[in-house]
Amino acid sequence: MRRRLVVGNWKMHGSRASATALAAEVAAGTKGCTGVDVGVCPPAILIPPVVAALAGGHVACGGQDVSEHESGAYTGETAAGMLVDAGCTLAIVGHSERRQFFGDTNDRVAAKLVRAAAAGLTPILCVGETLAERRKDETSQVIAAQLAPVLALPNIGDLLARMVIAYEPVWAIGTGETATPEQAQEVHAFIRGAIAARDATAAGALRILYGGSVKPDNAAALFAKPDVDGGLVGGAALKAADFTQICAAAAR
Ligand code: PEP
Repeated sequence: MRRRLVVGNWKMHGSRASATALAAEVAAGTKGCTGVDVGVCPPAILIPPVVAALAGGHVACGGQDVSEHESGAYTGETAAGMLVDAGCTLAIVGHSERRQFFGDTNDRVAAKLVRAAAAGLTPILCVGETLAERRKDETSQVIAAQLAPVLALPNIGDLLARMVIAYEPVWAIGTGETATPEQAQEVHAFIRGAIAARDATAAGALRILYGGSVKPDNAAALFAKPDVDGGLVGGAALKAADFTQICAAAAR
């Protein structure tokens, strides 16, 4: 039985004051959600106050991205070790906004995943197709290509035991248009099958989250699907009440 996980991606929103308040509200609101793991990923500079607000509680903190380099002259980057040092346990890698606006290739995302895992973080690997790719019936091909450099890694067994995958159709991110539970299930099953071809045991234990306009009113139906093990939540994660309801839906 896979334990569900719901993670909020706060993107580039918030201030010290608002992030601290949101973290405290999420911690209080999800206290009763015992059947689900909960995490939040604030902007890098807001990680320290958020970690402080979450201290000693059940809500994990994570980075929204991580460098593929361990350390060095990489201006503007955040190393995985720095996230750990700041109190993070999670790191999103390969979010579609990083792929689209910052040139993250499938190979670079795999390198980031390796760095995050090596530092002791739980990497959340995002994959997903654009609307044009879906319309051309290329969803499986695109996702297979996104997974390929990860599945080719020599220590894939260890990585699979540690990582999480998030299926995030690009056309559903921030658009208000959610994949139907059936569409999500179809792709999640495809992803699990692709992992199983490499390691069947790891595939059975791997958590695959759905992301893309998850809201309190659609979360339960998505989480009811057998291969949907929780959610990666953007916009609705900025409202403590909405995020709490999504976590409660996952806990049921
Ligand atoms: C995301 O950014 O990962 C995301 C899923 O955003 P939203 O929930 O706003 O679609």
